Amino acid sequence: MSILTAPSFQVDTHGYYGPFGGAFIPEMLFDNIEHLRRNYLSIIDDPAFQADFHRLLRDYVGRPTPLYPAPRLSQRYGSRIFLKREDLNHTGAHKINNAIGQILLAQHLGKTRIIAETGAGQHGVATATVCALVGLPCVVYMGELDVARQAPNVARMRMLGAEVRPVTSGSRTLKDATNEAIRDWINHPEDTHYIIGSAVGPHPYPDMVTRFQSVISAEMRNQLQEQTGMPNPDMVIACVGGGSNAAGAFFHYLEETSVQLVAVEAAGLGIDSGHSAATSVLGTEGIIHGSKTLLMQTEDGQIIEPYSLSAGLDYPGIGPLHAHLIKTGRASTYSVTDAEALAAALELTRLEGIIPALESAHALAALDKITFQPDQVVVLCLSGRGDKDMATYIDHLDQNPTA
Ligand SMILES: *Cc1c(COP(=O)(O)O)cnc(C)c1O
Repeated sequence: MSILTAPSFQVDTHGYYGPFGGAFIPEMLFDNIEHLRRNYLSIIDDPAFQADFHRLLRDYVGRPTPLYPAPRLSQRYGSRIFLKREDLNHTGAHKINNAIGQILLAQHLGKTRIIAETGAGQHGVATATVCALVGLPCVVYMGELDVARQAPNVARMRMLGAEVRPVTSGSRTLKDATNEAIRDWINHPEDTHYIIGSAVGPHPYPDMVTRFQSVISAEMRNQLQEQTGMPNPDMVIACVGGGSNAAGAFFHYLEETSVQLVAVEAAGLGIDSGHSAATSVLGTEGIIHGSKTLLMQTEDGQIIEPYSLSAGLDYPGIGPLHAHLIKTGRASTYSVTDAEALAAALELTRLEGIIPALESAHALAALDKITFQPDQVVVLCLSGRGDKDMATYIDHLDQNPTA
């Protein structure tokens, strides 16, 4: 590909990645989003902000997270596999990186109240955590069905002092919680900041979340340089729900075309089963949560309820950066079923003594679908730990006693 026609993977000034992105928002939110858009880069790039951000990432979150060369996993797949240990972060996943960044941003904007939406509760817990950290009130919208399904995370949020508001409209899941959070923001535009939990939503959210998560690949470059003598791997693999851990793991390699980028989605019970979240395969262009991207929708534009055993991956859309990476061929995608992810989680646990989050297990299951060259350097983003998924894992073991 010549330089002239090479697509850019950085967001443009209007919030687009190629044809995807933008800010499709109700007029009532225009001032809020516009204020954010005009100020986010100067705030984030400010040296004092960067110092605060990195101090908290170090002293509170526990960064840098290790880059672990996994010997038995490497032997199993015939390549050099490194695990980027986001599972070792405070609160157990990468989501805290973004939550720390956005709470600092909210303070710089003079906001005194935080709202968030959550599906499985992981982003709600990260948001409630940073609100406790800085002493700001926090309201988390959560579908009534999810409140019932995710009781341990609801308890954590309450313990952290957040108010969890169950949403009873629609299908009573994530998309309804998001609608309710947006309604709240429209009613409290002055004092409230809305912390979105993935690389989705209207511009500047996808870019802002990606920048906060890009600490993942910034560390990877240094750690690979130390451990292999080269800053670049041959391949980076990450699971994609909305796409924030993948965006962070890919960011510093976007323009390095020798680095293969692999995005792994949840195929649920199978891509053609009617119960899946494989957006890159099943999705068509449309608008979801303020962003033009790929999403699973009916012919008349109604959102199709996604399904995955993994609560963090059952989002009906995909962040606009990933839609662009996939459509331009810069990233390749694999779809992994519930069963394949469960087997991969068990395999990592038995080979390396690490119990992964079910989301991260999807990325691990892709190893079985890729043909590696010996000595190829592969980094897999282990986005979270499996504590929250123990009930699911134990059910699986009970049903498969010889596994
Ligand atoms: C939420 C979550 C994900 C999916 O979110 P992304 O924004 O796509 O990264 C992946 N892994 C874990 C552990 C999560 O909690």
